[in-house]
Amino acid sequence: MDKATFRKYGHELVDWIADYFDKVEQYPVKSSVKPGEIKSRLPTSPPDKGEDMEIIWKDFQKLILPGITHWQHPGWFAYFPANNSPASVLGELLAAGLGAQCMVWATSPAAEELEEVVLDWLRQMLGLPKGLKGVIQDTASTATLVALLTAREAATNFTSNDKGLQENLKIYSSRETHSSIEKGVKIAGYGRENLRYIATDEDYALRPDKLEEAIQEDLERGEKPACVVATIGTTSSTAIDPLPEIGEICDRYDLWLHVDAAFAGTAALLEEKRDLLAGAEYLDSFVFNPHKWMLTNFDCSAYFVRDPELLIRTLAINPEYLKTARDDEVNNYRDWGIQLGRRFRALKLWFVIRDYGVEGLKDIIRRHIKLAEEFAGWIREDKELELLAPVSTSLVCFRWNNGSTPPEELNKINKKILDSINQSGEVFLTHTKLDGKYTIRLVVGQRTTGKKQVERAWQIIKQVVAEVTDQDQNY
Ligand SMILES: *Cc1c(COP(=O)(O)O)cnc(C)c1O
Repeated sequence: MDKATFRKYGHELVDWIADYFDKVEQYPVKSSVKPGEIKSRLPTSPPDKGEDMEIIWKDFQKLILPGITHWQHPGWFAYFPANNSPASVLGELLAAGLGAQCMVWATSPAAEELEEVVLDWLRQMLGLPKGLKGVIQDTASTATLVALLTAREAATNFTSNDKGLQENLKIYSSRETHSSIEKGVKIAGYGRENLRYIATDEDYALRPDKLEEAIQEDLERGEKPACVVATIGTTSSTAIDPLPEIGEICDRYDLWLHVDAAFAGTAALLEEKRDLLAGAEYLDSFVFNPHKWMLTNFDCSAYFVRDPELLIRTLAINPEYLKTARDDEVNNYRDWGIQLGRRFRALKLWFVIRDYGVEGLKDIIRRHIKLAEEFAGWIREDKELELLAPVSTSLVCFRWNNGSTPPEELNKINKKILDSINQSGEVFLTHTKLDGKYTIRLVVGQRTTGKKQVERAWQIIKQVVAEVTDQDQNY
């Protein structure tokens, strides 16, 4: 590509993205291509000669775009959001242009220092305790793995790094915990059998009494409890594990406390939601994802630790070719995570926080929560729809239930309802199971989602419920 072409398409692509933001609502939210459909239209071998950008760009629109699910669609109510914003896209573009590899301070001092500053902004924005130090990880899964590795070394006085794990260390988390805990436990070498899932209460939050029972049982058996992972906002239903009680137990038994607040952590931006993080004074490590609900495009996960020395001692490597004269004065984030090479992710975060201001971000989060609460209110008033979990932030869990249909049949009907809702192409919702109940999830978290889209979702749901249940009665 020559310079003039780069300039031309640089402008054209940014224009295209701006138009995309304006009209993303016109696409069906969810791509409906069949498995293999996109692949079948692509050449199986790479081109020998360079191709024109004009053709590449046309092919993107013709071949790739139909296979895209539109996460930035205002009718996005599925999973959790992964929202972006104009500021984050520009920050990402600039980071790609600089192409800086930010593994240690010396390989781009501004990247390290900006990351340090912006993460401390985030700490303040969430009201997290003073003294916590932050670093950006690619994902919450990686942050949790790093926490589990540090907990392992802290529990074995840094001998596992050298000798491998010599004993069974026990990890505790609720049944509703995210699958990344199990993955982290496998990778960190604890062994899956050492992960104990603790029973939850009727709101799907971890029961501290059951946690303590399990710890005592393990101690009596001569096992070694090491770490508790508490979730603030579980993936199924945004249940909030009781951090003050869990923290007190961790304190008493000297256990590592990792807090996974991947989605719901963002809500703590709001003073009225700060109680979500009550008990934060007990935590050893904490993760939340600006790439989920804080307008910073994927990937950007904020990881905080009480004692960076433990983290660094767990992960540090110091080969000769990476030594610099400044190592004593600065942070070298290669030792704060799994990867050596690091992208300049702090840049987009800086852009986002400055572009919106803390107040601007709070307005958006507040709007989402209010819309979810309104929607939950409609469910509550409806005779045949029921809420299946408390609405702690902006996720609503519900199902159709006329009170006389047997459980298995209810699950089938609700699955049918969800499938039909999504066939509209205007909205996209996903499901989970709570206590064996097929549960429809609606999460409000897109930058542009407003009352209009939530009302439209409600209309579609009511219409589909009428159709599906009427049809079912006629069988
Ligand atoms: C989404 C989610 C994760 C995983 O996030 P990644 O950044 O994709 O790894 C972990 N925990 C919870 C509670 C989540 O909701």
